[in-house]
Amino acid sequence: MKSFRNALSKAGMSDPPLSAERLAAWYRVNRPISLTGLTDTAQSPAAVTFHGDVITPSGTALGGWVEMTLRSDGTYTFKGHMHDSGWDPYDFRVRAVVSTPNLVVAAQRSGHTDGTGSDPLGHPNRDCDWQEDGKEPRIEMFWPEVRQGTMTVSKSYQDVGVLKTIEDITADFLGFVAADVLGSPVLGLALVIGSELGKVTGLKWGDPTILVGVAEVAGIVAVFGFGALVPAIGVAVAIAPNHRRLNQDEIRFASAVFGDTLPIDRIMLTDMAGLGGRRFTFPNVDGDILVNLGPAYSNPDPMHYTQGNYPIIQGTPGGYPTQGQLFIHELVHAWQIANSWFVPGWICDGASAQMQGRSTYQYGPAGPSYKNMGSIEARAAIVDQWFGKYAKGWTSVDDAIAKLNSPAATSDPYFTYIANNIRLKQE
Ligand SMILES: [Zn+2]
Repeated sequence: MKSFRNALSKAGMSDPPLSAERLAAWYRVNRPISLTGLTDTAQSPAAVTFHGDVITPSGTALGGWVEMTLRSDGTYTFKGHMHDSGWDPYDFRVRAVVSTPNLVVAAQRSGHTDGTGSDPLGHPNRDCDWQEDGKEPRIEMFWPEVRQGTMTVSKSYQDVGVLKTIEDITADFLGFVAADVLGSPVLGLALVIGSELGKVTGLKWGDPTILVGVAEVAGIVAVFGFGALVPAIGVAVAIAPNHRRLNQDEIRFASAVFGDTLPIDRIMLTDMAGLGGRRFTFPNVDGDILVNLGPAYSNPDPMHYTQGNYPIIQGTPGGYPTQGQLFIHELVHAWQIANSWFVPGWICDGASAQMQGRSTYQYGPAGPSYKNMGSIEARAAIVDQWFGKYAKGWTSVDDAIAKLNSPAATSDPYFTYIANNIRLKQE
């Protein structure tokens, strides 16, 4: 039986309010709304297709089109066609970028077309067609924003010389990123899809003796993770972000919340921050999880840093008023990366709040399963706010541990998520 509720959940709408109007808006179905029609529509994932023509100046016998289809289940199709109608052969590179206020989804294709001169007596291979299908979970996570994006197409071409090596492609892409993507002051995240750019983010950026995954391009620092990069600030031109592993005090401190379920050996703390000062937690190609704390790294240190200028949420003072609360929040994201298949990296604060179209840090009364308690941010907030409420005023690591083991802390309605999810690695 077709279920309206299943249709809603398939569209990714597990959070209230569940309504036909919302589903209709999601699928861009016009009024009057037929429930049966909606349910039929929702049997397949919502999709948005962006199409752009590749136009070259007169005198250049090269043209074509490119198309990117993004779907609410995270799958995508990147395809295109290029045609050479003249004498000269061309090597070309076409780049399609879907932009939203907070993130971009970029894909690229390099190829070759023959002209008449390539094989004057035979059959020159004038066309280049391609199609790539894949899945990027962050398209699903940011679907409400992604589906409202706009696509721009850029191209370059030449009749001599080729961008054949991965180094060539990389240098070219980084130049583009620096100029057109990272130049946006609000951008949080650049997702790259398709095989060509996928190779770029899979490389070991930066000097491994400094920090793998961090590269500087045209004066802008970017952190590379699988399938994505994040522009960062707070780093000197020499690309030497301060970074270190957790120390013994921090490991004990964190274990008061997480038990032994944090990937301690993978966690690397750094003083980088995203644009707008956003903190972000991101794995690099070596498997290290970079926990980028910005000022919380050394002002005075992660365990003692506080930040409290956010509104009250769920009766709890917003922000991170208890010493170490922000540190705990970011460590939840590291825990999520290690223990969930669908969290490939995370950027906190305004970006995600805007992307989700609601206050992402809010969660409802305890009761539902942890994964139904809200967004990734809400689930991190449950943990850091439980910590913040009961560890408040701690004076030593032992004191913090004692406070978190108090009857009040362990009888809190949200403690079930600490005990039965976080400490048992149960997403
Ligand atoms: Zn967060």
